[in-house]
Amino acid sequence: MARVFSGIQPSGELHIGNYLGAVKNWVQLQHQHETLICVVDLHAITQAYEPRDLAQRTHDMAVGLLAAGIDPAKTILFVQSHVPEHPELSWILTTVTPLGELERQTQYKDKAQRHESVPAGILSYPILQSADVLLYLATLVPVGEDQLQHLELMREIARRWNARYAEGFFPEPQPLLTKTKRVLGLDGKAKMSKSLGNTIGLFESPEAIWEKLRPAATDPARKTRKDPGTPEICNIFTLHQGFSPPDTVADVANKCRTAGWGCLDCKRVLADNIVKTLTPIRERAAELRREPKGVMDRLRDCASRARTLAQRTIADVRDKMGFLHA
Ligand code: SF4
Repeated sequence: MARVFSGIQPSGELHIGNYLGAVKNWVQLQHQHETLICVVDLHAITQAYEPRDLAQRTHDMAVGLLAAGIDPAKTILFVQSHVPEHPELSWILTTVTPLGELERQTQYKDKAQRHESVPAGILSYPILQSADVLLYLATLVPVGEDQLQHLELMREIARRWNARYAEGFFPEPQPLLTKTKRVLGLDGKAKMSKSLGNTIGLFESPEAIWEKLRPAATDPARKTRKDPGTPEICNIFTLHQGFSPPDTVADVANKCRTAGWGCLDCKRVLADNIVKTLTPIRERAAELRREPKGVMDRLRDCASRARTLAQRTIADVRDKMGFLHA
């Protein structure tokens, strides 16, 4: 059975973009593989953030993941900072990572532009990502296209450490490309993101979902109800593909191309299907929130299972690198 590792930032409440782009896939993967899902709070501190909110955002993310179907009996769901071996391995890997490769990363270049003085954590972010995966000797990493460059660097780091200390010790993780088309925000322009205010949260009420969906961007060619559209370029159609059954998706495409209905009719059907999927998730989240101790117990138990695996790897790594035993 392959071991899968994936991480998510503690951004608080999940939105439907996170759900379709990652979480729905993880819920399926946990039935096929040994899965670790990590709320990556150590990554989150590389950006400006409010320390008073971090714990709550981390807890809320865990609630969202549990409510969406991540099952701690199948998945090790844990918080990154609860396993101190992550930064330990990250430092070790820093010593074999070429600086030029870090500087070439597109995400580094994008983020660095936004800083007058660039924190080193932004540069070394992919090393911590490599440590996250290699610590568990994971072989599969679910990623979107935009993460492929980091994964290639991860493989390079594994190769370099192996070549220096122990051939074949770290497996070279392979990408598990996420099939879902990228979900745009409701404005139809940028990626769905909480900071841009163009999302639907996973726990929103049916009324709030409809209020947000009603004015959402569609194919601009459909100026009037009589104008045919192209579903493939419409974000509402992408959302149908994530939330509606296949026969409805086919019907939507047909009615769009033939101007058989208006965009509001199309959105109404989508809203109903989103509500159908999200209602049980919202109810489970409400139950979990009523019992925060239960959530923390699950996170602690998972962190302890993760640490058992991590400590085994670190012990081998220390041994192979020649450190004096404590
Ligand atoms: S009918 Fe539906 S898929 Fe077609 S443009 Fe309107 S909202 Fe988009």
